[in-house]
Amino acid sequence: NLSTRLGKVFDRLKGKGVLSEGDVGDAMREIRVAMLEADVALPVVKDFIASVREKAVGQEVLRSITPGQMVVKIVNDHLRELLGGATSELKLASPPAVILMVGLQGSGKTTSSAKLAVRLRKDRKKVLLASLDVQRPAAQKQLEVLAQQAQVDSLPIVNGQQPLDITRRALESARREGFDVLILDTAGRLHIDESLMVELLQVRDLAKPHETLLVADALTGQDAVNVASHFHERIAVTGIVLTRLDGDARGGAALSMRQVTGRPIKFVGMGEKLDALEVFHPDRMAGRILGMGDVVSLVEKAAEIVDKDEAERLADKLQRGSFSLEDFKSQLLQVKKMGGMGGIMGKLPGIAKLKAQMGEAKIDEKIIGRQIAIIDSMTKIERRNPKIIDGSRRRRIAKGSGTDVADVNRLLKQHRQMQDMMKQMKKAGGLGNLKNLLS
Ligand code: GDP
Ligand code: MG
Repeated sequence: NLSTRLGKVFDRLKGKGVLSEGDVGDAMREIRVAMLEADVALPVVKDFIASVREKAVGQEVLRSITPGQMVVKIVNDHLRELLGGATSELKLASPPAVILMVGLQGSGKTTSSAKLAVRLRKDRKKVLLASLDVQRPAAQKQLEVLAQQAQVDSLPIVNGQQPLDITRRALESARREGFDVLILDTAGRLHIDESLMVELLQVRDLAKPHETLLVADALTGQDAVNVASHFHERIAVTGIVLTRLDGDARGGAALSMRQVTGRPIKFVGMGEKLDALEVFHPDRMAGRILGMGDVVSLVEKAAEIVDKDEAERLADKLQRGSFSLEDFKSQLLQVKKMGGMGGIMGKLPGIAKLKAQMGEAKIDEKIIGRQIAIIDSMTKIERRNPKIIDGSRRRRIAKGSGTDVADVNRLLKQHRQMQDMMKQMKKAGGLGNLKNLLS
């Protein structure tokens, strides 16, 4: 799987501080293979690799994880973001809200229509199902049977009627009989063809659906881009239902379709039964595509450990009274790095405590950047012995770092406060207590 593969790529790089272009290049080859194996369409893979490369090169590697794990984390975060970040529910307007189901033949439109009906019924909605599929002889009957199982109404079948007539009748009946939602199940084709599109356009213009859901088989590999772009360009879908994820599809189609349409994946089909429809979760899908669910949590844990190590190291230094402005700077850098990784911050108990202790100093990237600039503008001697920093030195440092003397004063005061605090704690019970406080 991907993480062991990446592990091999990075074994020889252990201990390097920053991801170089070469390191990332090797890793990207592995990720490319993994994504193709997961059935992500090639153009989508290319885009993806390009943006991950940009994010990863130059990224600092956390101390107690391997560069490989670091890359995996970057890849996973980016993938999650592309897949939509959060779940996306149906948007249904005032009744009767119309949902139009479109897709290729056999993609799971009829089944998914019934599954959605069950879901909506459980939400106390009154649902009407109508089949516009006059292509296959038994299609309308199939939906009628499923509607019974779903315990919702279906539009009575009138033989010989064309899709537009059925649509008209369904709309009338939905209005007249006070249905909350009308689900229109349409015919598919084995391949995209013009007559199908024309039929769908006519139905769409008549029914003015609030949701147009593209139903697609998760096993659709490289063809996913074609299918999604054709349907989306012609009839503007509002969301995607990905079926057959109960099988061994790796889910690459999810990424391809999402990328091509820019529309959210709303539901996934997890079986043939009518209750087998789940809300789509981007994070689960990211793990599925890369086949690495555990790695990510492992990386997050490692990040916590790093922080604990760092906090304890800092505690030692403070206690010995040797906490220089250089140490302060490395602490600020660590905080900045954590903050920059987004989300991890909240999971770091040590940092959270420090944050509170530093009082007025907000852990804000901009402020931290300024603080680091101030320390950088000092001479080595000043950093090790801040007592010598008088008025004229302060003015010089402020100028050099593009800040005000007041900023320099504030930073020096913070540094002093941290030292004082440590002295007090040393009196109160020593390092043991301090460690408890930091963790
Ligand atoms: P349609 O032609 O698009 O209407 O497709 P159908 O809804 O008739 O589904 C075709 C076949 O796929 C049926 O045998 C369904 O039971 C099956 N199917 C649909 N969705 C799923 C799913 O999520 N998982 C599995 N395993 N089978 C599904
Ligand atoms: Mg069907």
